[in-house]
Amino acid sequence: MDELELLVDLHRRQERQGPGGTDQTLKALDLSGLRGRKDLSIADIGCGAGASTLVLAQETGGPIIAVDLFEAFLQELEKRAEERGLSGAIQTQQVSMDALTFDEASLDLIWSEGAIYNIGFANGVRLWRRFLKPGGIIAVSEMTWLTDRRPPGINDHWRQEYSEIDTAAAKIKQLEESGYMLMGYFPLPKECWAENYYSPLEASFDNFSLRQSHSQAAQALITEQNQEIAFYERSSDYMSYGFYIAKKVGP
Ligand code: SAH
Repeated sequence: MDELELLVDLHRRQERQGPGGTDQTLKALDLSGLRGRKDLSIADIGCGAGASTLVLAQETGGPIIAVDLFEAFLQELEKRAEERGLSGAIQTQQVSMDALTFDEASLDLIWSEGAIYNIGFANGVRLWRRFLKPGGIIAVSEMTWLTDRRPPGINDHWRQEYSEIDTAAAKIKQLEESGYMLMGYFPLPKECWAENYYSPLEASFDNFSLRQSHSQAAQALITEQNQEIAFYERSSDYMSYGFYIAKKVGP
């Protein structure tokens, strides 16, 4: 297995592949003003195994197109949807988020949790806007500084991980400059990282290592993930994902 396949193997069995939570997905849906509406045309981009897709399907009844680059995640999502009787509401599509094939002005809601960083926030929100109907909504979570200042070590580390990390004020400005009106913002609380994402991930390391016959590459990946977790713990007062909910304005 190459490094990417190992990463997929480590994460695919997890409930979620990034920080987040059901309560936060529902809160963002509330802020979108679309909760309770049926027959919405929705895309969940970078859906992974579908932590948010399944919540949205349950709430809205779909139809939801769930997009990811990796087949293994989409298969996992299909299995989970089947188990919950939600298959009819979800369709999966394996395609890169910078090469989406939706019709112009065809979507009521674009959802994306912990994934837009793969093509950059500013680029992503600009690129995806044309797929929204007039007045359509985008709801994305994105790595965000919680404070104007932070210790230099923390600043430099995350800048290196993701060069576009910035404050909510800067992200909101980018949304406005790209033709959106902000409807809501909130930062993900620490439990979205610690309890919902990192704890179950840590608990899976032993099984992952066993599956990989304790290979050196698997050990190296575990070490790397442990370092990420430790660094997050030092950073949690300064950095989180921010959830941005915004409406397309203009044609
Ligand atoms: N939204 C999910 C997954 C977040 S992890 C959750 O919150 O649990 C980021 C996801 O983006 C992964 O599933 C990864 O496979 C996907 N991804 C990475 N690059 C991508 C690309 N270029 N196009 C589509 N999906 C991509």
